[in-house]
Amino acid sequence: MQNLHLPAFWQIVPYLVDEARRMAETCAMSYRKFCVGCALFAFNSQPYYINDFYKIFMGSNMKPLADGPNMCAEAVAAQAARHAGYELIVGVVIAGQPQEDHKSGLLHPTLLPCGNCRTFLSAMPEVRLDTEFLTLHLDGDIHQIHTFAEILAKNKPCVK
Ligand SMILES: [Zn+2]
Repeated sequence: MQNLHLPAFWQIVPYLVDEARRMAETCAMSYRKFCVGCALFAFNSQPYYINDFYKIFMGSNMKPLADGPNMCAEAVAAQAARHAGYELIVGVVIAGQPQEDHKSGLLHPTLLPCGNCRTFLSAMPEVRLDTEFLTLHLDGDIHQIHTFAEILAKNKPCVK
């Protein structure tokens, strides 16, 4: 299913990378300067306008207060795609500083979706097991490519 749309996603990835970085650098709000940006590429089989089969949605994280609520960049972007009627999230680009995963205790070379986001995204029909995730370190060129299924498998809580 997804294979059909992946070439279009990879073609626009350089732009998505720029936008994910821009989201982290200029839009995110964090009391501890933990800034994350997301730009995702979504498909709609019945768009209102003929040019809108594919569309980009963006998000940034918001946690302005240490003891306040938190909104994650990828959850914001995925919800925006859902609200606009986009039925398939083809690929997701996330830019941020890696940090230890709260649920699993694992530290990856790049920032992967947190436990809450993995739960939300798993529940969304727009996100498929083969939805592609490109995760980028905010500094330099370190990046990782995973399918959503691989992210779910990687972040299984470790049994200690
Ligand atoms: Zn999250």
